[in-house]
Amino acid sequence: MNSYYITGIILSRENIGEKDRLVVFLTRERGKLRAVARSSRKISSKMAGSLEPFNLVRCWIHIGKTFDIIKGVELIKTFPNLIKDIKRYLLVSRIVEFIQYVVQENDENPEIFKLLLGTMSAMNDYGNINSIYVFFWVNALALVGYKMRLDRCLCGKREVTVFSSSMGGVLCDDCADKADDVISISGHVLTLLKEYGNIKLSEAIKREIPQYLFGEVENIIINFRIYHTNIRLKSEEVNV
Ligand SMILES: [Zn+2]
Repeated sequence: MNSYYITGIILSRENIGEKDRLVVFLTRERGKLRAVARSSRKISSKMAGSLEPFNLVRCWIHIGKTFDIIKGVELIKTFPNLIKDIKRYLLVSRIVEFIQYVVQENDENPEIFKLLLGTMSAMNDYGNINSIYVFFWVNALALVGYKMRLDRCLCGKREVTVFSSSMGGVLCDDCADKADDVISISGHVLTLLKEYGNIKLSEAIKREIPQYLFGEVENIIINFRIYHTNIRLKSEEVNV
């Protein structure tokens, strides 16, 4: 078989040569996929309009020598508010950049695909973007193997006061000095992080996270992500 179909979300694209574009997808069927759209920079190209970042598309692809070649594109869904609204755009850019680093080629991961598509749809359609954003991170980190320990300290105590990424989560007062990367965690934020690991996206879209809590939650998530995955995001250098 020298061709196949994929359903994918476009993570990024870059120009190669004079007329071609290399498109990176997160696919439902084969993890991350890079494929070339030939002549897609010509104004007449019918494909070009559909191969924009964040679009959900179905593609017919030929197996090529260096890169596989996109032969046909069907546009399934666009997320116009993710492009138009600057806060949504900045937050979704971080998510998409992370996915591009963390998911490998030919690494079929339907759960991550479902989470990304659900998150993008929700961020496009609903107003509570802080809540949807936190839902994504708590669940994405767990899906790639890094679940925060939030219910008790390493020693078993349930009264916890600080968070340490290197120790995998919360610590009690007595154990706090075992780690050199402790940060304080408020009761509100601890409760929130626990809840977001258990609720569904349909619940997250109904909740709101006020900006003062969002900053603290985000700080813990970024800290934990960088420690465990070593992934630093360019898009995070721009403040939201
Ligand atoms: Zn302890």
